[in-house]
Amino acid sequence: MRILMATAAVTALTLAACSPAANDQKSGEPAPPNPTQTVAAPAEKPVYRFKIGALDAIALFDGQNPVPNDNKVFGVGLTPQAVAAPLTAAGQPADPIMLEIHPLLVRNGDRTMLFDAGLGAGKGQLMQSLQTAGVDPANITDVMISHGHPDHVGGLVADGAPAFPNAAIRMSEAEWASIRANPEMADLVRVITPKVQAFRPDEEVAPGVEAQDTAGHTPGHVAYLITDGQNQLLYTGDLMHHWVLSVEHPDWTVGYDDDATAGKKARLDEITALRASGAHIYAYHFPFPGLGKIQTREGRATFISEAQPAA
Ligand SMILES: [Zn+2]
Repeated sequence: MRILMATAAVTALTLAACSPAANDQKSGEPAPPNPTQTVAAPAEKPVYRFKIGALDAIALFDGQNPVPNDNKVFGVGLTPQAVAAPLTAAGQPADPIMLEIHPLLVRNGDRTMLFDAGLGAGKGQLMQSLQTAGVDPANITDVMISHGHPDHVGGLVADGAPAFPNAAIRMSEAEWASIRANPEMADLVRVITPKVQAFRPDEEVAPGVEAQDTAGHTPGHVAYLITDGQNQLLYTGDLMHHWVLSVEHPDWTVGYDDDATAGKKARLDEITALRASGAHIYAYHFPFPGLGKIQTREGRATFISEAQPAA
């Protein structure tokens, strides 16, 4: 599967996508047909370091999530052929549809913040990626949760105990209420309750981190805006799932969304805003490391990777 992500169509654009000049489309300049790249096979190099201003940030590979092209998740109400068309045009596999999973670590002063916790032991490789990055889970001070789906909170618990023993677990009050109301989450709730510090979104919830209310995918989903001086990165959580489908067709119904209408509106609003602002994003499910921006190319919203190629 990983090899497919690094097909010639993808790698051919590596240099163009990394040149700052190439990220501003000039009139008359041909648009890249497939403007993304992967940095390296995450199984071999599961860590990607970058900066948000002066802050150290690390993308941490956890795993892949192949989704069948059966209109249960992507393009609900459409046909597999309709969903395959933009994927094929972008040189991507159409079935299964590939998602990746990669939590983000950011250091700010004495805080070491992990954004979402991955699938959990036996399912994801976040702990190995942390080890590769030289990060001791005991040194993580805050786990910032976007929402309570298993690919984001599964890694909070290991062997029946908190996987990050010294970390506060931060999430919106609405999301925590939703998790507690779900009987399938009872074991997780029992373990993490002493660690949870729920917040109201739309304010600073940790140093340099503002939680943005983006409910819809789940009742209390938040995105996190991470700021250092003039530099900002929007951690999008599950506002977007696939780098082609979610970006080009934010109005398509997504089976993963708890509230399809609200999820669609949140996705559409965010992508409209990102097209206008050119803000940097970190997308948890895009090709590793999911770092880039959304621009208009040939009239379409397009994800442009800003990751630098591996040395
Ligand atoms: Zn997810």
